[in-house]
Amino acid sequence: MNLNSRGGRLTGHFILIIWMLQLAACNPPAAAELPAVAGTIPTSIPSESAARPPVVITGLPPTPTSPPTAAPSATPTLPPSPAPTASITPSATPDRNIPCSRRVPDSGLLTVVTLTYGLSRDFEPAGLVGLSGYLPNDVTLGYPTELRRVAVTPLVEMIGDMQAAGLKPVIISGYRSFSAQAIARQKWLEKEPDRANILSAPPGFSEHQLGTVVDFGSPELAEIVGQEDIEFHTYFYKTSEGIWLLENAHKYGFTLSYPFEAFEITGFFYEPWHFRYVGVEAATNLHDAGISLTEHQLATEPPPCIPDNE
Ligand SMILES: [Zn+2]
Repeated sequence: MNLNSRGGRLTGHFILIIWMLQLAACNPPAAAELPAVAGTIPTSIPSESAARPPVVITGLPPTPTSPPTAAPSATPTLPPSPAPTASITPSATPDRNIPCSRRVPDSGLLTVVTLTYGLSRDFEPAGLVGLSGYLPNDVTLGYPTELRRVAVTPLVEMIGDMQAAGLKPVIISGYRSFSAQAIARQKWLEKEPDRANILSAPPGFSEHQLGTVVDFGSPELAEIVGQEDIEFHTYFYKTSEGIWLLENAHKYGFTLSYPFEAFEITGFFYEPWHFRYVGVEAATNLHDAGISLTEHQLATEPPPCIPDNE
């Protein structure tokens, strides 16, 4: 538009009208119209952080490009993990300079547990409650599953939302004591010796001892796998429940501990059924960064204890 003296006044009016129109168009929606997930959007990761080169965190083993040959039969085609960039505040660990076999962590939600960094056989988390008081039998399968109280409310809320979406999640496992893990391990060694290492950790080296981990099942799994009594199988990621959990569990504070292609880092094969409660912020950060808690912590924190074989 030309800006001579007469045109200048016209231009001024025109700009005023345009500005008013824009103001009307940009009027923010009422709070009620904002998406309900707004409260779970991470605040500590800038959106451009995902583009950072993978050298930002040192000491991280290279990401494997294909599952180890001993992996379960599934051949999922998930996208590769981006560079680890999650911002997670570490738990206060009172003493990292102790043998892992004597390690008793505090009540924080971010305790590192791997096949290298285990827990004392005496460690039992505080605040365990039975899920049967909070969830119906068709979800708990009648098992006397326990979980730390802090994870129960988010779990119940998540299960409720899954059921409202027409899904039928079941809970196969929760807290496992050191001795219960030893029994589970023995059961798998006898039942499926070839897959025991895939399906269970030695006692002291399972996240289930923390009391914040849930193994989920799906009524669709048996048909997908073609085996009636199957409880755990990589194909869980193909079930409606597995798909939903992968996309939504972080909104309730649960994170997938053992993602696809993370064996070299976590020491565990892909376990699409195994979710750990870490709180909404941490879980969301990890989800958005596409990494596991273990991967992030091993890359950014000093060892939590001294492995007993060192
Ligand atoms: Zn598990």
